[in-house]
Amino acid sequence: MTRIYALANQKGGVGKTTTAVNLGAYLAAAGRRVLIVDADAQANATSSLGVAGGDLTHSLYDVLIRHVPLADIIVPTFQPGLDLAPSAPALAGAEVEMVSILAREHLLRKALEPVLPRYDHLLIDCPPSLGLLTINALTAARDGLIVPIQCEYLALEGLGRLWQTVQLVREKLNPHLFISGMILTMFDSRTNLATQVVDEVRKYFPDQTFHAVVPRSVRLSEAPSHGQTILTYAPHSSGAEAYAALAEELMAREEGRVAHAQAAGAGAGRP
Ligand code: ATP
Ligand code: MG
Repeated sequence: MTRIYALANQKGGVGKTTTAVNLGAYLAAAGRRVLIVDADAQANATSSLGVAGGDLTHSLYDVLIRHVPLADIIVPTFQPGLDLAPSAPALAGAEVEMVSILAREHLLRKALEPVLPRYDHLLIDCPPSLGLLTINALTAARDGLIVPIQCEYLALEGLGRLWQTVQLVREKLNPHLFISGMILTMFDSRTNLATQVVDEVRKYFPDQTFHAVVPRSVRLSEAPSHGQTILTYAPHSSGAEAYAALAEELMAREEGRVAHAQAAGAGAGRP
């Protein structure tokens, strides 16, 4: 069974894309067949994986709006086992164009179905909004939502709205949706504030928060400009170790080697 996760948080710049591509890289390194689905018109996951928009004839826009099969847009990356369904700026228009389409919330879920036998993991990188693209991702994410939380001031601000959206999607569109995990990102051990945020998140979400914490790391922010993941760019850096640990933790949860957060449900520990 293919695992499908959405990386979502409507707050911008919290590490959704960085987590999608680097978690994907380490899952692939562990032998999993991984597809990164770039559902953000900024196309950051696409460029981070070294795929230049100009080289593409199609993107997720054509899949959602023009009925192009997803298999036709998938491109391999430099890393074996890691594929990409790319985005392009045109995807911004999809949000508006989808409004008039019947069953518009299910477009992505349906588009993914034919390629599922080819993959063990799908990671959907969401835009920083709770618009129709994110709703499509949440509807497709049958194994739940992974929420990156930046270890900064106001880290938990806005999570209430995300929770409400998750609740609505679960009631109306995807009964399987729950918060699979929260991943703390950009942790700076030199600041008290970062430590306070970690403590607070763990207090509210003891079951959902991953043990792995991603440190603030220059290497992690440099890797995308080289079109590489941290696995090839700086495999011995602290950021690489964190994403390797996160991938291991996720696989351990999936295999039941550690307690799964599912029982806690999306509504638990609401801020
Ligand atoms: P958006 O909401 O715009 O899609 P996002 O949530 O996907 O943003 P990212 O693009 O992953 O966030 O990260 C935002 C910026 O912070 C990027 O420049 C990225 O390289 C950088 N960054 C992410 N994680 C780290 C980290 N652990 N250490 C240092 N820089 C990081
Ligand atoms: Mg992003």
